[in-house]
Amino acid sequence: MATLRERFLGSILGCAVGDALGAPFEGSSSSAVRSRWGRHVRFHPIPGYPLGQYTDDTQLTLAMMRSICRMQRVDGADIANEFIRLWQTDEIVGAGASCTDAVYAMMDNGKSWEEAGTAEGRAGNGSAMRAAPVGLWNYAHPELIEQDAVTSSIITHRDSRSIAGAIAVAKAVQLCVNADRLDPPAFIEEVSHAVRKTSEPFARWISQLSQLLGTGPSEALPHIYGAGNPDFGPRQPGWITAYVVPTVLGALYFFLRTPHDFIESITEAIGAGGDTDTIGAITGAISGAFNGTSSVPAALIADLKDSSNIIALTEQFYRVAASRQPR
Ligand SMILES: [Mg+2]
Repeated sequence: MATLRERFLGSILGCAVGDALGAPFEGSSSSAVRSRWGRHVRFHPIPGYPLGQYTDDTQLTLAMMRSICRMQRVDGADIANEFIRLWQTDEIVGAGASCTDAVYAMMDNGKSWEEAGTAEGRAGNGSAMRAAPVGLWNYAHPELIEQDAVTSSIITHRDSRSIAGAIAVAKAVQLCVNADRLDPPAFIEEVSHAVRKTSEPFARWISQLSQLLGTGPSEALPHIYGAGNPDFGPRQPGWITAYVVPTVLGALYFFLRTPHDFIESITEAIGAGGDTDTIGAITGAISGAFNGTSSVPAALIADLKDSSNIIALTEQFYRVAASRQPR
């Protein structure tokens, strides 16, 4: 069984590897992604960047960890400052519109971190994609996940569905980091229960995963693509959009289909097409938390940009979290 430290490393390296594997395919259809996967899972190039480049999903996750290490709590104002620095230094890669709008609202228009995030009506996946540290930090304090996920989400995303997505990802990671065995229906109900107060519809969509798990991707994906999206009606978009509901449902589905196989989960998740870096990052963070760092291929960790810095920060984050919460 993976140790707690190995699960912290698995979650954050899983997020970064999933993000970097998915990033070159962002915006591609499922069939286009699948036709470009070779027999071996490896990083594909993104023009203008080194091989193994990760994007905003990982950058904002690492920013959350730096802040939590420093503040020893989830502090909205301090996390916001970490985010702003990534835009000021032009380091941010592939930023989403909601995050960029919120950062400029704080930077240029003097908005506070509590009011800068996009309002109800625009439910992107940009706060769910960086929620793994909330679950890790609260691995022994599940009662604090909701409030910390809300704090970390509203900096950029104030829509109740986006907040619920962040809670769901944090809760899934917290369950995984503590679990030696997995009972998918019970797991789904716990994640659904965690978001119910914030978004009853989101809780219902998560509960429906129990039925979808009995079907393969060709049958399940049309339901996931269109989940909770009134804009598409009976049609469905044909890939994972940046809307938080399909992104989080897809990540949970592909993790729970093959819970013991990190690579199978993230390659199938990225193969769903669309917002491939984000679904790769979230699926990787959840699967890595369950399976530990040994489940992430060493060759991918070696080829991941900045992997030694990511490992060092995660080790520090683990020590701070473990000393806060002795077992
Ligand atoms: Mg990204």
